[in-house]
Amino acid sequence: MKFKFCPICGRKLGEMFCGDEGRIPYCEYDNELFFDTPKPCIMVAVIKDDEILLLKQSYIYKDSKVLVSGYIGIDEKAEDTVYREVLEETSIEIQNVEFLGTDYIEGKELLMLTYLASYKAGVLSKSKEVEEASWVKISDALEHMKENLIGQRVIKKVLDRRKMY
Ligand SMILES: [Zn+2]
Repeated sequence: MKFKFCPICGRKLGEMFCGDEGRIPYCEYDNELFFDTPKPCIMVAVIKDDEILLLKQSYIYKDSKVLVSGYIGIDEKAEDTVYREVLEETSIEIQNVEFLGTDYIEGKELLMLTYLASYKAGVLSKSKEVEEASWVKISDALEHMKENLIGQRVIKKVLDRRKMY
């Protein structure tokens, strides 16, 4: 998010010079700086044996599948978002949630915290906002994600890890 107006008082922002950071949008009434900020989200690769959970959500990619993802709520830990989003979108419970590092989607102002998790319990059943939810062989997953560059990077991390064990 790049700020032009103060999100507190609504006035047009000026600028303040902040050393190495350069000129930063500034509200003199609230005495607040508004640095450009990405929106924090999670993305999780859920694994069950040699399969991975993929969703179809055409509003994101017309011809590619996606991993479970979602926005981190206010006063919510990123790990709790991971459990919550998987449960909301697919009705399954997960365990062994492990951080895979951060990534971003170019031009979308999203900071993506990426995770690996394993299936724990429940029957796969998609929510209304998901068109399709299915288990796909991990070795075939990249073929389903031609347009989804960030998804490909997460899958590659998962594949690298599995070679380690
Ligand atoms: Zn203000």
